[in-house]
Amino acid sequence: MLEVRGKRYPLAAAKDYLQATLADPRLNGRQVRIEGVEKRDGTLLVEKFYTVKDGRLYRVRYYCETCHIAYLQPGLCYCCQQPTELQELPLSDTDDDTMADP
Ligand SMILES: [Zn+2]
Repeated sequence: MLEVRGKRYPLAAAKDYLQATLADPRLNGRQVRIEGVEKRDGTLLVEKFYTVKDGRLYRVRYYCETCHIAYLQPGLCYCCQQPTELQELPLSDTDDDTMADP
């Protein structure tokens, strides 16, 4: 659920990994920037999602420090089965980043 100026929007995501990220309790109460479209039923369909710190946009990803594998969504590393860390990367520095999509 997203609250904007007193109005509450149920959130839906265009992609499964976005849905999983939006549901991550570690992001509760954080300042975020969401790009999406409001559907006719009032649901906000999220297409892009960033966290905001000091006015800069950060992309959220999940990372296994042990295996050095990045994931788009929270959960266990498929290699070592350990929980992945939430990481926030400044948007401009991640252009040629590679991602594993489990
Ligand atoms: Zn791992």
